[in-house]
Order: sequence, then structure tokens, then C-alpha cells
Amino acid sequence: MLIDTHGHVNFNAFREDADEVLQRALADDTWVIMPGSQYSTSKKAVEIAGNYEKGVYAAIGLHPVHTGEKREVDVMETQGGTSFTTKEEKFDLKSYRSLLYASKDGQRFFQNRKVVAIGEVGLDYYRLPKNKEAREKEKITQKNVLREQIELALEFDLPIILHCRAAHENLLEVLEAPTAKLQTAKLRGVLHSYTGSAEQAQKFLEMGLYIGFNGLIFKEVLALPEPAEVISSIPLERILLETDSPYLTPPQAIVGTDPTMRNEPLFVKYVAEEIARIKGISVEEVASATTANAKTLFRLI
Ligand SMILES: [Zn+2]
Repeated sequence: MLIDTHGHVNFNAFREDADEVLQRALADDTWVIMPGSQYSTSKKAVEIAGNYEKGVYAAIGLHPVHTGEKREVDVMETQGGTSFTTKEEKFDLKSYRSLLYASKDGQRFFQNRKVVAIGEVGLDYYRLPKNKEAREKEKITQKNVLREQIELALEFDLPIILHCRAAHENLLEVLEAPTAKLQTAKLRGVLHSYTGSAEQAQKFLEMGLYIGFNGLIFKEVLALPEPAEVISSIPLERILLETDSPYLTPPQAIVGTDPTMRNEPLFVKYVAEEIARIKGISVEEVASATTANAKTLFRLI
């Protein structure tokens, strides 16, 4: 069994066939956690997860690219120049908080157990606005919105799914800075789609965080300077598997020559195989350890 801890089946790319995609994964003994990146996709994730008895879960959060001024950004430079327009969403704690409750007989009073994390949230300094003043302003906004969402995670005793691009030192600063409510000792979570160095990874591990890997570990997709070095330095007990669908399709899953071909949770098996190859262990060992890790962190039952 495998768990794709980061598959956006709640995104528009799956609007036509989200259920088929999820059924395909479940039939292959693969569970899925769908993180939101703004209010609408968070809500969608909660709705989809609610239709499944088991194996499909939601996370809710506001992604750092959507906190600043509206602009066109790249998804991933190696993926055929795909781009999207950011949402310029103001973080509204109340709306997100309401997604954490399930209603029963018209009353909202208990925590929805299908919402297993706050995410994806974090810092993205790679895709900031061009204008210098706007850049600085947005860095501050991103940090503030991140802090608010960490506090939400702590309040509900949920783990966080962290996104971080070109801002690893800044993220460490935020996580290490104590605020009245932000006690990092209690903070649980994963740094997803890891692109930092082996050295930086140690600092996140010391904080108790897990590290998530996806198609970026394949040379053909891009992107870590030395995937083997980074992966070797992280114990299996702290690794989570993910796809980041619909992005970052593993080369083994690509039919034809289109690198922008849609990724899906079913393909998380290729990430497991690559980690097994790098660590020189069996795929079964990677599967059982990472599945146990995900079940522990997200308290999946
Ligand atoms: Zn994502």
C-alpha cells in the first residue's frame, strides 16, 4: 500500500474525472491526501473527501503564491512553460475555520476527521512580483499568513503541509520564532516537494518535520541539485511520498513526448521505486515505512 500525501485531485485539471482518478488510485491500494491552495480548492477537497468512506482526505490552506497581488506565474519551468494567474486572496481565518467542522443535523459542532491537515501553506520567494516594493511587502504578507495558519493548525491539533521555494532560511526563521501561540515544540508537519539542501533538511528534521518527495527527484523532471545526496541523508522514517498532481509527472508515467502530461496519485509508485533505488532497499520497504509515516503524521484511520 502507498499514500500520495500531496495530490491535488481537487484542482480544475481533474474537474471532469476526479472520482475516476481516485478510484484508480484506491483500486491500486493507494490513498490520497488533497491539499487546497486557496479557499475554493480547500472547500472542494473537503467535499470530495466527504464522499469517501476511507482512503481519500483533505487539507485546507492558502498557498503563498495566492496571498499577493494578482499576476501570471510559472508552474514549473521544465514543464512546458505552464502558467496560471494567482488569486490575490486575503486570508480569512473564519472561512477556513468553518471548513474544519462537519455539520450534523444542520448544526456545526464537531471536527471533520476527513480534514487531516492545514496546507498547503508556506513561503514562495521564487515567484514574487517584479516590483521591489511589492516584493518586500509580499514577503511580509506571506510570513504573516503562514503564522496565522500555523496557529490554526495548533489550535486544532493538526499537522501542517509546508510549501517552500527559494525561502528555506526564511521558513526556518518563522518556524523557530516563538510567538504567544506558536510553539514549535508542538508543531507537526511535512515540508512537501523538498528542494532544499541536505544540510537544511537536517534542521527541518530536528524540528520533527517529515520531508516529502515527488517527481522532482527524477533528473528528467528537474530539479534538486543532487537528489541522491539529499534522499540518502534523510532516514526512511521521516520520508513521505507524494505526486503534487497534476504537476511533476514522473518520466516513467509519460506516454509519448509531452512533459506536461497530467500527473495523478496512481503514479506515486514511481517515486517509491526511485527512492528504493537511491537508498538501495526494496520498494516494499519504502512503501511500508512511508505509509506508516503518513498514517502517523495525519492520524489516518
Ligand atoms: Zn501542491
